[in-house]
Amino acid sequence: MKFINIFYLILAILINLIYISLLFFQIKLKYKKQLIRLLITIIITNIILFSIYYSYYAQIFFSVIFILHLLPFFPNKEKNSFYNFPENYDERKNMFSRNNLKNYPALKEKYYKIYPEHLKFDNKLHKMPEIGSSSNKYYHQYKSKIADANFITTAKTAKNFREDISPTTEKVDFSPEELTKHIIEMAKYSGAIDISINKLDKKYVYSYHGRQAYNWGEEIKLNHKNVILIFVPMNFYDIEKAPNTNVIIASSSAYLEAAKIAYLISEYIKLFGYEAKPHIDGNYDLLCTPLAGESGLGTIGKSGLFLHHKFGSLIRISAVTTNIELAYTPQIKKTYHLDNLCRICNNCVLNCPTKSIRQQNNNKYYVRQETCFAYWKTIGTDCAKCIKVCPMTKPDTLLFKCFKFYLSRNLITQKLGLLLNNLFLL
Ligand code: SF4
Ligand code: SF4
Repeated sequence: MKFINIFYLILAILINLIYISLLFFQIKLKYKKQLIRLLITIIITNIILFSIYYSYYAQIFFSVIFILHLLPFFPNKEKNSFYNFPENYDERKNMFSRNNLKNYPALKEKYYKIYPEHLKFDNKLHKMPEIGSSSNKYYHQYKSKIADANFITTAKTAKNFREDISPTTEKVDFSPEELTKHIIEMAKYSGAIDISINKLDKKYVYSYHGRQAYNWGEEIKLNHKNVILIFVPMNFYDIEKAPNTNVIIASSSAYLEAAKIAYLISEYIKLFGYEAKPHIDGNYDLLCTPLAGESGLGTIGKSGLFLHHKFGSLIRISAVTTNIELAYTPQIKKTYHLDNLCRICNNCVLNCPTKSIRQQNNNKYYVRQETCFAYWKTIGTDCAKCIKVCPMTKPDTLLFKCFKFYLSRNLITQKLGLLLNNLFLL
């Protein structure tokens, strides 16, 4: 008993010291709400710790409460309730596509005949400096060019690998299960953190090409039945600096890695006698985000980004489509806790510098891509504040694996975890 009491006393002193140091060095005192929350947390923690120190019954009581509060419990199992993605979206409406139009007057004329409502805003956008220009807020003479080099490499290789998607040989015998297993192993060996293989939901295939001038306006006819999604992590420590040039380096590097793995898988499948098409940054025939939302590996957050059950939105996605027979990857049934986390969290909405993440009347959210993209052009990098402030954006270390496990238990742990996140980890 004595030993336990001394242990709790030392714990109480240590926790108080941590609180005091946080108060003085880390908490931004201008946030009155945060300060009040911190003071309440200090008072409650001290009451608990000192009652444990003085009473054996309190030790039993709080131990039982602690174990009980870790039980997984979710009253609401509704999935993907924050977004309605459009079916067969016209890629020409994407902000990158619209931004490119300033270099192609003939395409520009055609586009604004179809979508005249975009002309006024896009005229302003076209006058802004491009991402990577020396007048951008976060322009860095050396770092900005690393991102450019990543994007150029991705674009140049895309041309080679997407031009010929036909099989390299005659059809050969294979086992779909064995082939799937090797595709997953190969992808993970090359740096993917997860893979999903599913039937391709055709409603998420774009209707018309829009990103590249050479096929702009062509109708997309993708007859593949299966889609392999490849998830590649971004570097947490770069995203943590958002908005900053490091973010566009993290993002462009992950896109390049994701592209490389998509090429490898495509070439591998082609060696079994089937077509395979890689879909990579700037050269997708489909919307990866809703497909990822249906993959069973996570959900779509209020930010409009895919929230992976382990890595949150700290990822970039590429894809391969094919007709080869594959074993579909199992759906992880317990990712609904992410929807519930999103329901009680509003970090991305509140911290978006352009207030681009907006709520519609029916509790659905949408991202106003015009204001978001204009901000990227102003600062010269991906903004990524919505990724940075998400409680699921954490390094892949043991401590933060425990934190994410805590966030996946129930609404009580999620509320406490969010409080902890917003006070100490943002
Ligand atoms: S990237 Fe930045 S501006 Fe765009 S939605 Fe996210 S937080 Fe808002
Ligand atoms: S920041 Fe919060 S609300 Fe936004 S996606 Fe992440 S969990 Fe959801």
